Amino acid sequence: MRTALITGITGQDGAYLAALLLEKEYRVVGMARRSASADMVSARLRWLGVLDRIELVDGDLLDLSSLIRIVQQVEPDEVYNLAAQSFVAASWQQPLLTGQATGIGAANMLEAVRLARPQARFYQASSSEMYGLIQERVQTERTPFYPRSPYAVAKLYAHWMTVNYRESFGLHASSGILFNHESPLRGIEFVTRKVTDGVARIKLGLANQLPLGNLDATRDWGHARDYVQAMWLMLQQDAADDYVVATGRTTSIRELCRLAFSQAGLDYEEHVVTRSDLIRPAEVDVLLGDAGKARTVLGWQAETSLEDMIAEMVEADLRRHRERAGAGRPPAAG
Ligand code: NDP
Ligand code: GDP
Repeated sequence: MRTALITGITGQDGAYLAALLLEKEYRVVGMARRSASADMVSARLRWLGVLDRIELVDGDLLDLSSLIRIVQQVEPDEVYNLAAQSFVAASWQQPLLTGQATGIGAANMLEAVRLARPQARFYQASSSEMYGLIQERVQTERTPFYPRSPYAVAKLYAHWMTVNYRESFGLHASSGILFNHESPLRGIEFVTRKVTDGVARIKLGLANQLPLGNLDATRDWGHARDYVQAMWLMLQQDAADDYVVATGRTTSIRELCRLAFSQAGLDYEEHVVTRSDLIRPAEVDVLLGDAGKARTVLGWQAETSLEDMIAEMVEADLRRHRERAGAGRPPAAG
């Protein structure tokens, strides 16, 4: 039985990856930060029905000694470094913490693997945000990076450290440059989920307006369930490498709103309002990825259309709010 160690297991991708690896009969160990609200933190794992089938260990990316101890004890065959301060907008409020968790945290994890388990295969969760002010209309593994937020700068450091540890120490370390991917388990602060949650609230009469920022930016959105497959495939290759994972279709926030509201029989123009405080200090206007290399080498391609994913997310948010109302609880987010 192979053992996988996942950092960031309580996040969206951690939950879907855990489910995928359990299906493949791995022993799955997840690293989670100690929290006073552990039951809330593991909500995604419960939602997918995997909480009871994984092992959780306490650790923090900022604490190298905890990482070394965990890698020594768990003896993983594969390490997936998904943990990060992952929200771009928050990275301007907490740029140093973002640098420590998202940038140095990845270096800490690489060090723990190099010192305690150099034969393990390593996956780094890199991001299309690294392209930022895009240097090519369609972004590939060869497109130059131009990060536009403290988050993207930190991810770029982590990406190059992964490449460097591969080249310097021979680690089997791969970096997945994943474009935005969403699901019913996406954090409520990201625009897709904010919109589908807003649609559900408005449909059920719990709200009337949805405040958003820039509606003209476009993103290449895929489904997290599809994207964790690409992570796993990268670690099954003889040689480690870097791969773009994307759908090849880019859609504006405005069009996303139209799709999500119409899914519930609503007109977004009657409900969406723009608020200047939600506009970012520097914007990534367009992202559009070419996953040709992942298709050729890994045999991977995105399976879920944007329309199907948005329908799934709207349905899930409607269900959540109906259940909360049924249980007499206030319509809390998340
Ligand atoms: P989430 O924000 O849902 O999850 C982030 C995870 O990191 C959570 O489990 C969080 O724990 C954990 N974490 C944060 N800081 C620390 C720390 N100091 N030590 C240990 N754990 C920590 O992210 P996603 O699942 O959406 O994304 C997974 C990874 O992929 C992230 O690195 C993200 O930046 C990257 N990525 C995501 C994309 C996307 O579209 N989703 C696109 C490209 C890259 P807690 O629950 O305690 O907060
Ligand atoms: P990101 O690509 O990782 O930053 O993912 P987000 O989902 O946070 O943002 C995607 C795009 O939606 C960015 O261009 C944002 O500026 C835009 N956007 C517009 N309004 C909002 C909003 O209210 N919240 C968020 N999170 N993004 C918004």
